[in-house]
Amino acid sequence: MNAAVDIAIAGTGHTALTAALALARALPQRRIALLGGADAAASADPRVTALAAGSREIFTQLGIWPALAAVAAPILDIRIDEHGAPARASLGPVAAADAFGHVIENPVFAAALATAVAALPNVERLPAVTGTPRPAADHCALPVGEGSVAARLLIVADGTDSPLRTALGIEVEARDYGTTALLATLELDAPHGGLACEHFTPSGPLALLPLPARDGRERMALVWVLPPPRAAELAAASPQRRLTELRAALPPGAAPVSAMGDPALVPLRRIRACESVRSRLVLAGNAAHSLHPVAGQGFNLSVRDLAALAQTLREHAAVGGDPGDLRVLADYARRRERDQQRTLMFSEALPALFARRELPLRLGRQLGLLALDRLPPLRRAVANFGAGLSLPAARVVDADARL
Ligand SMILES: Cc1cc2nc3c(=O)[nH]c(=O)nc-3n(C[C@H](O)[C@H](O)[C@H](O)COP(=O)(O)OP(=O)(O)OC[C@H]3O[C@@H](n4cnc5c(N)ncnc54)[C@H](O)[C@@H]3O)c2cc1C
Repeated sequence: MNAAVDIAIAGTGHTALTAALALARALPQRRIALLGGADAAASADPRVTALAAGSREIFTQLGIWPALAAVAAPILDIRIDEHGAPARASLGPVAAADAFGHVIENPVFAAALATAVAALPNVERLPAVTGTPRPAADHCALPVGEGSVAARLLIVADGTDSPLRTALGIEVEARDYGTTALLATLELDAPHGGLACEHFTPSGPLALLPLPARDGRERMALVWVLPPPRAAELAAASPQRRLTELRAALPPGAAPVSAMGDPALVPLRRIRACESVRSRLVLAGNAAHSLHPVAGQGFNLSVRDLAALAQTLREHAAVGGDPGDLRVLADYARRRERDQQRTLMFSEALPALFARRELPLRLGRQLGLLALDRLPPLRRAVANFGAGLSLPAARVVDADARL
């Protein structure tokens, strides 16, 4: 098979699907190929995604928000505290229309994105890239099985370990956090009321996120960051012992847990690619930056990146710009620098700050939580930052365009 397209997106995850959606909407005249086929692993992805209010705005522009909201649970309050210490901060409650974010299970999310992509007339699905991409002056040649695809721009969205990034010789700054996230779905004895908890323990943060009820049962997602031996011990323990240990670790005020689903373990690493653009090439999603999940920022940052990429390409296309031209891509990279830097620093600093045991720092944290709880302007600033609303959202489509 040989094909020529304007934009090729290599990947099968949320970033690749969202990129296809955003670019197809922004550039309806361009031919876009999604290289990777269906992701067989997507239905087994144990993660959930808390989509921040900033992402909601972008998915609304993309015309898919009502479909996502229908299968997500709104976050109406966020409670932050520290194990064994009295102070705690509450960022809400807020009304459903002002939800801090929405939580969606990854397989459900992938299915909704795939349905939306299938309806786009200018996106085609092709098999995965099978060799090293070869950027040339006016296109990037992509080996696909026995043939090849020539694309004016390649978007690499093949995840944290990104085989294509490696094949292209792009270096990464990597850091192993030396911790593992234990993920599980919890069933509750009482409604969660849209409450999300960020509970900092000496071994790492424990997050509870509201999920939509299933078969009449109230549910939450657990993301429990632990030292790897402790995570492995809990994963191997009997369901009853696991539940007992979880109950002892839960924050005060959390809804009572009646059952815990099978746990999945995810080792935590930070990756940042040393280059995010080259001529004919953009790295996106986890292939560009993979963050600590503590603040739920990773995918939300990628959504803002993709919206900005779509806006940048749309603006340059209006004056005849080539989507793979390095000047166009450098413009995109410049627009994203500040947000990426801040979000990476925030996701890195938060768990590090709460891991410190020195008395002055513990007191400082308690004062900080009290201030957050009592000072509405500080609360608003933190909530806006977490929601990705502290910088204006990119316009994927013209403000007056109708979907
Ligand atoms: C525990 C945890 C909780 C998280 N919670 C949140 C949250 O609440 N909010 C948030 O914003 N973010 C969150 N994140 C981050 C979020 O999960 C990631 O940012 C997001 O999944 C990245 O998606 P991706 O498509 O870039 O990468 P991936 O999900 O890794 O997908 C890349 C896919 O590409 C495939 N692939 C590999 N090679 C090729 C190839 N040659 N061709 C085609 N495809 C290929 C891979 O198999 C993979 O399926 C969390 C992360 C973790 C670990």
